[in-house]
Amino acid sequence: MSEQNHTPSEPQRGIELDSVFDDSWGENHKSGVVAIVGRPNVGKSTLVNRIIGEKIAIVSPKPQTTRKRQLGIYTQHDIQILFIDTPGLHAPQHKLGEIMVKDAEASLKDADVIVMMVDVSTPPEAGDKHLAETIERLRGDTPVFLVLNKIDLVAPEKRDLLVAENRALIAHEKTFVVSAMTGEGVSELLDNIKAKMPLGPRYYPADQLSESNFRFIAAETVREKIMLHTEQEIPHAVAVEIESYQERQDGTHYISAVIYVERDSQKGIIIGKGGEMIKRIGSEARKELETLTEARVFLDLRVKVLKNWRSDEKLMARLGYRTPKDDD
Ligand code: GDP
Ligand code: MG
Repeated sequence: MSEQNHTPSEPQRGIELDSVFDDSWGENHKSGVVAIVGRPNVGKSTLVNRIIGEKIAIVSPKPQTTRKRQLGIYTQHDIQILFIDTPGLHAPQHKLGEIMVKDAEASLKDADVIVMMVDVSTPPEAGDKHLAETIERLRGDTPVFLVLNKIDLVAPEKRDLLVAENRALIAHEKTFVVSAMTGEGVSELLDNIKAKMPLGPRYYPADQLSESNFRFIAAETVREKIMLHTEQEIPHAVAVEIESYQERQDGTHYISAVIYVERDSQKGIIIGKGGEMIKRIGSEARKELETLTEARVFLDLRVKVLKNWRSDEKLMARLGYRTPKDDD
């Protein structure tokens, strides 16, 4: 028996991406994360766009167009690579806030490869050196590929010197001399990145090319406001899940979030007298998100009691928390 309402069939799309990509993937499938680090304007977005093959990141002659971390997703039948641009590492920190910096640092630690990109058409700058130090501090065991970009701008007689100067910036596994603009050297870089990817699942549908990281930032912002305004016992009992995040065509962001607490008493505190507290949390978080996204934001908050949510591993994972791997 059917209890569904049948709606008139949707008009067919011109191109079915599902027929281009094989949506199944087997046990030899690989996946991983590449963190791309480089000072503004060295060509990070241009490189990701070239690899993904579509314009997903804004490329601009003005520095720092990409203010938020952005994900570029490269998918083939046997591999999926997530390219993350980490503006938190090189953008002015007061603007982006602690969350963005923490986020950027975490993405270095979690990466399978760190790509440090520099503009080889000029000698290294203070910004490059600062980033090299940051990478050194945070890389752990993660391999570093040094990508010397914009080689198309370098006169042949200057090439050796500029390459040598820039290579000396950081201890690294392999150097790639490329032009993200013309494509020179990019496929060799991509082949080497692929070789570093571990076995792993396909995280995103094959036709998805990018994801802005606003979901994560929205959840963290709401949590931050709760921590700011509630008693000490509350923060650790709280988790925020973004149920839906829609960037509408008119540029408005619609966010609906659930705040999980463990007890009714905690729910009462977060809602506050006459809903005052939740209003305050919502309005402060909304304002901050509007500044970050440079968009109009609608934020819908609900509070749910979920006893022992912290011992629910599936929920923890869904909320982006890491669960202890082993107990021994
Ligand atoms: P990002 O800030 O590191 O993401 O840099 P973008 O990708 O936005 O690039 C900054 C500027 O450098 C843009 O004007 C690009 O067109 C230009 N650019 C990027 N890669 C190359 C390259 O390989 N050669 C040349 N000549 N220009 C490039
Ligand atoms: Mg960029």
